[in-house]
Amino acid sequence: MKNALILLAGGTGRRLDSTKNTVPKQFIKIGNYNFIEYFLRNLDEKIFNKIHIVVNKSMQKKYLSTLKKDFFKHQIKFVNAGRERQLSSKKGIYSLQKYCPEKVLIHDSARPLASNKLIKRLLKSLDKYHSCSPFIINNDLIKYKSKKNIFKYGKIINIQTPQAFRFKSILKAHRFSKNCCEKDDTSLLEKIGIKTKFIKGEKFNFKITYSDDLDLFKKLKKNEFRSGIGYDIHKINYNSKKKLILCGVKISHSPLIGHSDADVGYHAICDSILGALSLRDIGCYFNNSNKKWKSANSKIFMQFCNQQLKRKKFHIVNLDINFICEKPKINKYAKQMKINISTLLEIDRNKISIKATTNEKIGFIGNGEGIAAESIIQIKNE
Ligand code: ZN
Repeated sequence: MKNALILLAGGTGRRLDSTKNTVPKQFIKIGNYNFIEYFLRNLDEKIFNKIHIVVNKSMQKKYLSTLKKDFFKHQIKFVNAGRERQLSSKKGIYSLQKYCPEKVLIHDSARPLASNKLIKRLLKSLDKYHSCSPFIINNDLIKYKSKKNIFKYGKIINIQTPQAFRFKSILKAHRFSKNCCEKDDTSLLEKIGIKTKFIKGEKFNFKITYSDDLDLFKKLKKNEFRSGIGYDIHKINYNSKKKLILCGVKISHSPLIGHSDADVGYHAICDSILGALSLRDIGCYFNNSNKKWKSANSKIFMQFCNQQLKRKKFHIVNLDINFICEKPKINKYAKQMKINISTLLEIDRNKISIKATTNEKIGFIGNGEGIAAESIIQIKNE
């Protein structure tokens, strides 16, 4: 195995604001995700073969229970945290022994903005060095609070994480260490005579410690909103005894004609999602000449679109669906439609709107020949 990541999330981190936040900082949700989830969402999934999160068992159950389902299914493992940082990183390192990775990165979960670029640079530097750590130069004037000593600019460096190590070297350093007082892992290597290579870190890879840091994180978090529109129409088959299906709800009304189950509601929603993601339309993925999709349940298409949202790291802000038909009365079924949609797209029901209008007896919809649906969606990056 090549690369492994240890994510330290054992701290209780109440420094942020002890009066307001009872949740340890790494688990505070900003938008839909906590820091750990935010970091993992932005992490290039090709870099690491194993990700071990060192966290207290109770915290894991409380805050990270859905993590394995959402990210990197086969890579994530939880390791019970130690009392001190050093003990936690030791436990993380020991948990990787059986996999024998070549390189390992140890990262603090309170730095969710570390970039893939920095991670790749650190790993690359391990080709030459045993230990590597990012740093930044503090360009503010630095003084002792009570004394007059002023440090010269450039003499002081701020150390960041992730810190990178050849696995065998960091394992040896942890085996050698007796006490638990080291603040970082490079100090352990220094004790066994291995020097650390310092490389330029990133200013925005700051540690979230105080509520000011949290405000800065919110500002730096990139928000991208996108919208999509979808429209579909199918003809009603008055000769069929089958039922009509709209947004997964079976309705006692003549069905629609289509290659699949002709669920215009789901089809319009799918096209709005794909449109927002600039992924063309549903027909490109589920061709209506392909026998595979003959009489298919359209929930498959919805599940596919939800996967695309996840793949592109977007989530739904809201979804507005409009049916255009003379019959049936949609209102009666709107609640169940919302339940179906919220289950398939994994969103709250209050983000979904179902409306309907007639065509005032004008044209073919007005004549009762068909049913149309349109959907507008807004999505946001994570
Ligand atoms: Zn359709």
